[in-house]
Amino acid sequence: MIVGAGAIGLASAYHLIDRRPELSVLVVEARQGPGEGSMGASAAMVRDVFSSLDNRRLAQSSIAFYRRLMDEHEGLRSPAPLLDLYGYLWLLPERRLDEYRALVRRSAGTLDARPVELSDLASCPGLDPAPARWFEGDAAPPPEAIGGGLFGRNCGAVSPEMLARFYCDTARARGVEFAFDRCVQRLSFEGREEVLLHETSKLPYSFQEEIPGRLRIARAVFGDGTSVRTDCVIVAAGAWAEHILHPLGIATACSPRPESLYSVAGREVDRLLRWTPPVEPVDAPTGRPRLPFLILPTGATMKPIFPEQRIWIGRVDRVAHPIGTLEDPSQNGTLDFRTDRLGDRAAFATDVLPAVTPYFPGFDTTGLRLENAWGGYYHFSPEGLPVLTEEPCGVIFVGGDSGSGVMKADALGRLVAARYDGAREARLFGGESYPLDRLSLSHRAVEEEGIIL
Ligand SMILES: Cc1cc2nc3c(=O)[nH]c(=O)nc-3n(C[C@H](O)[C@H](O)[C@H](O)COP(=O)(O)OP(=O)(O)OC[C@H]3O[C@@H](n4cnc5c(N)ncnc54)[C@H](O)[C@@H]3O)c2cc1C
Repeated sequence: MIVGAGAIGLASAYHLIDRRPELSVLVVEARQGPGEGSMGASAAMVRDVFSSLDNRRLAQSSIAFYRRLMDEHEGLRSPAPLLDLYGYLWLLPERRLDEYRALVRRSAGTLDARPVELSDLASCPGLDPAPARWFEGDAAPPPEAIGGGLFGRNCGAVSPEMLARFYCDTARARGVEFAFDRCVQRLSFEGREEVLLHETSKLPYSFQEEIPGRLRIARAVFGDGTSVRTDCVIVAAGAWAEHILHPLGIATACSPRPESLYSVAGREVDRLLRWTPPVEPVDAPTGRPRLPFLILPTGATMKPIFPEQRIWIGRVDRVAHPIGTLEDPSQNGTLDFRTDRLGDRAAFATDVLPAVTPYFPGFDTTGLRLENAWGGYYHFSPEGLPVLTEEPCGVIFVGGDSGSGVMKADALGRLVAARYDGAREARLFGGESYPLDRLSLSHRAVEEEGIIL
């Protein structure tokens, strides 16, 4: 059983059935369709510019796989493409330029990213590279001046709906069953004959931990009181994973935080969307480069939505919103996840715009209309890399996307399938092998990620 039909659960189902076609696999999802958790709320951007080599390998191989899917399936090319690599443009203060350029040098040619000179940014409509203040009345020193940029070419956007639909339909065609609108309230040891359980809590007598193979999850209990027998549960429940794992004493080391996105329109947005930047993206269907995904020195990000003449603004927030989810499936057996409820409209003017207007002064209330606000969760791991664990009781946990799980989902799906199969390594798309223990908690071997957007 896989809990969660988000990016990672879907890729896991797809690769599990590919690797072990004889298995009987059920994906249980609380929402009505695939990809309606944080995946559906995400900006769905992809990039391979990460400071950690592990993140880079996971993202790079997933992006390459998405490209392969698009090449192979007409339906993933039109009317809109599954993958559109129009690029990321980091606008960086002088201080950080060297750091980013060193990253590219150290990658020994595996990172396709090019420097952009400050003079090349002069054509960017409305950009003030050297702001004089944060905002009127704030006496703090102004945010750092932009000294130049870095353009990531193997970066752009993926369609989360198309990706979710592809994984779901293909897995289903190969025999995976999906149960939507079904919420797992708890995982249970009940129903295994040999196991001894406490009368009220239904948790096992703890001495049985010492008996090899005795303590294994036997069923998943749903919010409507029904249950299903299983001998292995893969928990790919994103931000909500802890609600079903913590009651079993299983730690994930991950913490969910709400993050919002804001869709804006208006005069300044139109102007910026018309910019022809001096870069060479991988994809330029009109023959001309388009506005890339912009990252400002303050951490604010701007995603172009070309067909709708909108820009989505975001900024990772570690202060204003506490750790945790509003929803708790373990309490009431439902997952009432509403993206609009997590779109903190008030925070747009107070927490997000001030990180944009110093560099784009026209992005104030006169040049901009807030059209929509929504949110989902980043499931942070301590270092910003995914976590993959396996418990002797038959539970595999995968999560800790740290805000970049869609772009790594394919690789993680392969890792999960290999982990289920008892392998020590997984083969990523492209043939590179990846040791599974690197993402475990007990033998974790990863360096901290420095670029979380
Ligand atoms: C504002 C925002 C912007 C983002 N931008 C990007 C980006 O640009 N690029 C990127 O790669 N990532 C981005 N992310 C992160 C991305 O959304 C996650 O990395 C990705 O969704 C993780 O996939 P997942 O499958 O682990 O989780 P989810 O997509 O959340 O899927 C988990 C699923 O499990 C289901 N579930 C949970 N508990 C239960 C239960 N008890 N019973 C049944 N079902 C259950 C949920 O309904 C959900 O569908 C962003 C996230 C947010 C919030």
